[in-house]
Amino acid sequence: MGNNEGIRKILTVCPYCGCGCGLYLHVENGKITGVSPSRSHPVNKGSLCVKGWNAYEFIAHPDRLKYPMIKQNGAFKRASWDDTLNFVATRLDEIKKKYGPDSIGILSSAKCTNEENYLMMKFARAVIGTNNIDHCARLCHSSTVGGLAAAFGSGAMTNSIDEISHAKVLFVIGSNTTEQHPMIAMHMLEAVDRGATLIVADPRRTKIAEFAHIHLRQKSGTDVALLMGIMNVIVNEGLVDIDFVRRRTENFDAFENVLRRYPPSVVEGITGVREYDIRRVARIYAMEKRSMLFYAMGITQHITGTDNVRACANLVMLTGHIGLPMSGLNPLRGQNNVQGACDMGALPNVYSGYQTVTDPRVRKKFQMAWKRKLPQNPGLTLMEMMEKAYVGSLKAMYIMGENPLISDPDLNLLRKALERLDFLVVQDIFPNETSEHADAILPASSYAEKDGTFTNTERRVQLIRKAIEPIGESKPDWEIICELSNKMGYKMNYRGTYEIMEEIALLTPSYGGILHHRLSDGFGLQWPCNDIKHTGTQYLHRKKFARGLGTFITVDFMPPDEPPDSEYPFLLTTGRIYFRYHTATMCKRTAVLEREEPESFIEINPDDAERLGIRNRSMVKVSSRRGEIEIKACVTNKTPEGIVFIPFHFRESAANILTNPATDPSAKIPEYKVCAVKVEPLHRP
Ligand code: SF4
Repeated sequence: MGNNEGIRKILTVCPYCGCGCGLYLHVENGKITGVSPSRSHPVNKGSLCVKGWNAYEFIAHPDRLKYPMIKQNGAFKRASWDDTLNFVATRLDEIKKKYGPDSIGILSSAKCTNEENYLMMKFARAVIGTNNIDHCARLCHSSTVGGLAAAFGSGAMTNSIDEISHAKVLFVIGSNTTEQHPMIAMHMLEAVDRGATLIVADPRRTKIAEFAHIHLRQKSGTDVALLMGIMNVIVNEGLVDIDFVRRRTENFDAFENVLRRYPPSVVEGITGVREYDIRRVARIYAMEKRSMLFYAMGITQHITGTDNVRACANLVMLTGHIGLPMSGLNPLRGQNNVQGACDMGALPNVYSGYQTVTDPRVRKKFQMAWKRKLPQNPGLTLMEMMEKAYVGSLKAMYIMGENPLISDPDLNLLRKALERLDFLVVQDIFPNETSEHADAILPASSYAEKDGTFTNTERRVQLIRKAIEPIGESKPDWEIICELSNKMGYKMNYRGTYEIMEEIALLTPSYGGILHHRLSDGFGLQWPCNDIKHTGTQYLHRKKFARGLGTFITVDFMPPDEPPDSEYPFLLTTGRIYFRYHTATMCKRTAVLEREEPESFIEINPDDAERLGIRNRSMVKVSSRRGEIEIKACVTNKTPEGIVFIPFHFRESAANILTNPATDPSAKIPEYKVCAVKVEPLHRP
């Protein structure tokens, strides 16, 4: 904290993306009046992106939920905390008694702190008695969590952000890094300035692709084939790190047998990427030791998301590009604390630290600590909860800091699913599309009004610090969960979030040495950090993988669930833009961000547009098998012929009315990156 003419500056962490930039909130007379970056923070080093610079305006926005509300005769009425929590506790108890604990589903939040996610998963398991807990990681990186856990034993970025600028080769596949992880892109461009080669694989010509030395424009949904083609070249040209493969991995022979089916000539036919470029990328990536591979949702959001991740894992093992600084596999996690929400076990199959609910020894440990019998079968994923709600077997949901009615696929169906619930409680800082359907609303405090920790994409657990008192009657999410739990007869009393972290450290090996007082100097600790002497881990899998040997998992190309056809001839891919964030609850209440990108659009290639008679900025109708929207056309070469792109953030012209709810069979992540649509010009008088 510093002082400057009456301004207090509180060091905290940006609430937007997984970069986890350090920033100061400027407080004057109990109000936050501005933001400045931390100069010595290892991620942002004195910079912020436009979202970070404006990460304060929404905090006191008039739309903030300021008091609890209960819906009566279709309208929300202000109520006291006591009455609202009694109402919620009674309804959840009634439903649990009548239909059983598994008739209730809980969504935790990648925007909330680790301590809050830990308590929410404890609430689900110990108070409700269900493993039906999930959060938006299901929609972005569940395929990473499963795919990398199987290959390496843990699913997180293996390197640190600070290493990036010293790498020699950066291979970025399915990540719009410049727009979605701006400070990571800053490190990448610094590496390029120092002479590194940047390879980008993305069907769209994104900003980061404009800086690339090689841009591979594979057809959406063909990543497995592309990666197999690259690996085929590496094997055939003798570029394998044989020593690494022999000492550190298993199952290579079975994998190699399948690899033979992917010579570059075949892969060119599947992906549209020239054989010449496949060979070039294979050689450049394999021959330089300081090669870092990055990916994001272009890899994960497919029905083959887990296979895509496995293929990335196979590539780094094949070349021995892992377990070293500036050499590794780096999934870029989206939200500020999506890594932490996963680490804390806000998932249906694991407790904190990815300790599985089906392991009797682990379950016994948590039962003893929490003094409750715990459910033993994995719970429902987010998508499964919505399916069960739709057919009427899930009766109630408790949603904290999530907005599925913008973020989930097939919104028309999802709306019906939420309407069929007997009871819905939403806990958030702003009203949103989902809370309109709630029976009760619990007003939560923003990141500036509470203490706790966020874990960024490089596994860095950092303190966030309370700068101002909660707005209105809002309360930090952890306090609301404790009070609700107490009303339901299970005592949850903590003197502060530091005590919750002590419990987390006790029960979670990888967070064993992470305690608040150890985080107050410097910029946090990177897990694994197993005990109080441990100083954190800069890069993973140094001498051995978390699971012992890394395992090659055989993958095979599978086409997308809904490729274009004669009725719906365009491939729609959805994504994100720089000035918006996720379901836009915060950024649309920030003047600069709203001004820059106030409405949605569809990117369409000029040749496609000309053929259909669509002019730039004219309105078009886009329809899929699930619904239709009207939206403004953006005619651009960024998107190749046959492919259209829509950002998903907007309520009007919501892209997810169109998207396909088909999921990856193991990760249950929906295929946001491919569905078939029709585009027609709208000629208005
Ligand atoms: Fe915030 Fe991410 Fe921008 Fe950093 S890069 S300021 S964490 S939105």
